[in-house]
Amino acid sequence: MMETINFGILILIVVNVVSIESVIGGDIYPVRPLLIKTYPAVDNYQSDIYEVYQEPYTYDLSVASAIAIIQGEGENDVDGEVLFIQKHPPTGAVLVRGNITGLPPGKHGLHIHQAGDLRRGCEKLGGHYNPYLLQHGGPRDGLRHVGDLGNIEAKEDGFAELNFVDPVLSLVGGGRSIVGRALVITEKEDDFGRGGTADSATTGSSGRPLACGVIAYVK
Ligand SMILES: [Zn+2]
Repeated sequence: MMETINFGILILIVVNVVSIESVIGGDIYPVRPLLIKTYPAVDNYQSDIYEVYQEPYTYDLSVASAIAIIQGEGENDVDGEVLFIQKHPPTGAVLVRGNITGLPPGKHGLHIHQAGDLRRGCEKLGGHYNPYLLQHGGPRDGLRHVGDLGNIEAKEDGFAELNFVDPVLSLVGGGRSIVGRALVITEKEDDFGRGGTADSATTGSSGRPLACGVIAYVK
C-alpha cells in the first residue's frame, strides 16, 4: 500500500539583491522571485525533490485558468465543462471544478492524457500524462502519473460534480503543464493501481473512454 502524502508545500523566497549588478545606469531592475516547490520523499524510492523556478525576467504570477469542454465518445451524450484555476503559478496547486451530465451512475476514472488531438475521438490520446515515468496511482499517492485525478461519481440521474484541488498539476510551462492535453472520463472506476494486473498498473483498469475534451487556456 502506498503512502498518503501531502504535496504542495510552497516556499516563496523573494530575492532582492540591490547591488552593483542590479543598478546599472541608475535604473533598478524589478525584483525577480525565486520559486521553489518541494515534493516529499517516498520510502525506498526517492529523496525529497526541489523544483526551482526563476525566470530571466519578472515572472507573470497572475492567476492562470483553463477549460475543457467535455463531449461524449460515439453515440453517448455525456456533456460538461471542467475549469482549472491555478491562483499561484507556476508552483501552486490547481483547483478543478466542473459539472458533467449524461454519465452512467457510479464511479468513473478521470485522467489527463498525453495528447489533445481529438481527430480520432477520445481513443488516440496516448497514455495518462506521465512526464516523470512513474507508475499509475491515485491522486494522493506519492507515486502517480501527473494525469491521475482519481474518480468522479455520477448520481442516478447521470450528474457528476467535480470540485477538488490537485497539488501536482500546473497550467504554465514545465513538466507538469496540462494545457493542450486531454481530460478523459472512463467507463469504469480507477483502482489506483492496486489491482495487481498490468492494466491496473498502467490505467487503474478504468476501461475505455466515455468522454473527453481538450484543456485550453481561458483568456
Ligand atoms: Zn495513470
